Amino acid sequence: MVKDMSENERSAQTIEWDIDGRPVVPDKPIISFIEGDGIGPDIWAAARPVFDAAVRHTYGGKRRIIWHELLAGEKAQKLHGPDTRLPERTLEDIARYGIAIKGPLTTPVGSGFRSLNVALRQKLDLYACVRPIRYFQGVPAPVVHPERLNVVIFRENTEDVYAGVEWEAGSQDAQEVLNFINKKLKDSGSPTISLKSAVGIKPMSEFNSRRLMRRAIQYALETGRKSVTLVHKGNIMKYTEGAFRDWGYRVALEEFPEQTVTETELSERLNGQIPSGCIVIKDRIADAMFQQLILRPEEYSVIATPNLNGDYLSDAASAQVGGLGMAPGANIGDRCALFEATHGTAPKYAGLDKVNPSSLILSGVEMLKFMGWIEAAELIVSAVTKAITQGIVTYDLARQMEDAQEVKCSKFGAAIRKNIDKAAHGN
Ligand code: NAP
Repeated sequence: MVKDMSENERSAQTIEWDIDGRPVVPDKPIISFIEGDGIGPDIWAAARPVFDAAVRHTYGGKRRIIWHELLAGEKAQKLHGPDTRLPERTLEDIARYGIAIKGPLTTPVGSGFRSLNVALRQKLDLYACVRPIRYFQGVPAPVVHPERLNVVIFRENTEDVYAGVEWEAGSQDAQEVLNFINKKLKDSGSPTISLKSAVGIKPMSEFNSRRLMRRAIQYALETGRKSVTLVHKGNIMKYTEGAFRDWGYRVALEEFPEQTVTETELSERLNGQIPSGCIVIKDRIADAMFQQLILRPEEYSVIATPNLNGDYLSDAASAQVGGLGMAPGANIGDRCALFEATHGTAPKYAGLDKVNPSSLILSGVEMLKFMGWIEAAELIVSAVTKAITQGIVTYDLARQMEDAQEVKCSKFGAAIRKNIDKAAHGN
């Protein structure tokens, strides 16, 4: 299923993890990759040489990524049969080597097949979906000042309505669940639910909410960000989303008492002065947050939110700065992290060497930062920005820009590599 270990892979070293869930990365780590379906092979072919060039130019051979291919999706299915879209070995190797990057994977609609992406996140307990959303100079955007938005969204990745606990309308299971619920409702004098309804469950636990918030606060402190905002619908769903907010505040109070202040403390006790080294903990109702990000984006920095809110909010915020084509993503757990392009497989463009590889390239940037290889990450960001400001872009950006030079996916990757080479040679 997976190619035999090459000489390179045998000489590579293993990533260790500290107790706070941070990787300790050797100079020659094995990093697993999944090409993905549809446009996956095109964007991976453009992205991988960019990562290698940045690492080579930054560390001059002292550091190197040893790439290790894993199979999933259609490629796995072709080799191992229709029921092998997510081989056990792929899960084992992601867990064993610790850090991986992937292209998009198809979820066939209506086949009853559960999303591979959701399965990966749940099976590997990648509880934090991290989506940094910022503007890249030169990218066409629908708002007047896209550069004012610079947020990192921490979306809880394992529960909420994504836990996949639901029953079809009219099914026996739905009726059994509804009979049980309706008895409770009747006992408390509340209106009952129609027995013809479909039913879905929204689990939200203290453990999962707290570990997400812990990561968001740690991230804000380590990266010098100013605030963490809990985004929830606690006004309506008091025992799920309301509890998420309360647990979030408790993490700040109990685990980071010296490094956090709430907005209330700030106005009532501190005269609006944030103590040095502290971040502010805020909370906002989810619907209000959508307009806040458009109207007052600079007031938000790190966001911690349950699964469904985070899903909506991250796509809306990405659109504000120019769309999903430029949006990186990461799924992070305590001993494992999987970085991925946030768009899908765009099947109509598969194999055409046409689409924008930036989402995958920028996911690789996040991966390098997570590894502590900051200089290589920054080199890629400036090379991508330069390509876009030079007007060398793929079709999606070209159709919104005047005087742009539309290039293929591979040529866009090559333009980024050229900018990396030039920066490395000081011009
Ligand atoms: P999609 O693949 O993201 O494509 C929708 C549209 O977005 C494309 O037609 C294209 O727009 C644009 N687009 C996507 N990627 C682009 C790129 N790299 N560069 C430029 N434009 C890009 O969404 P979908 O068609 O709804 O989903 C297709 C499949 O992907 C489904 O099976 C879905 O389940 C799967 N999916 C996987 C993931 C994942 O693996 N993380 C995420 C989402 C969806 P234009 O047509 O306007 O050019």
